[in-house]
Amino acid sequence: MVRIPVSVLVVDDEKDFVEMFSLRLAELGQKVRGAHSGREALEVLKKHDDIDVVVLDIKMPGMDGIETLQEIKKRHPLVEVIMLTGHGTVNTAVEGMKIGAYDYLNKPADFMEITAKLEAARQRKADQEERIRKAEARSLMRRGGELY
Ligand SMILES: [Mg+2]
Repeated sequence: MVRIPVSVLVVDDEKDFVEMFSLRLAELGQKVRGAHSGREALEVLKKHDDIDVVVLDIKMPGMDGIETLQEIKKRHPLVEVIMLTGHGTVNTAVEGMKIGAYDYLNKPADFMEITAKLEAARQRKADQEERIRKAEARSLMRRGGELY
């Protein structure tokens, strides 16, 4: 089976964490970029339109995870977000899921679980993109006066 890498953006104010987590994901065959703040994450997303999934720390100075999630969903609605929770932030992660996050992961996370969630999130994005493509094609055909 050919595995297509998931294009991931890891966002955390802890630079060591971003570095280690990214290295590990890259070893597992994923395509990884990193950012150390919500603002930086939005800049990376603006520059690179191939990102499938953002792994987003909740507790960050400045724009926190929830604010960043809201901006990501506003600007890039199809990009999936997985919240990253430390101690005592599971409730916030659940709130994040109510406003569009796909799921959450506990820190430190198990890489089997991470890989499974990344692939599932990427799949949801791909399915949604496919539904949109089909709907657009149908809409074009209708405009052409044909029945589908
Ligand atoms: Mg943090």
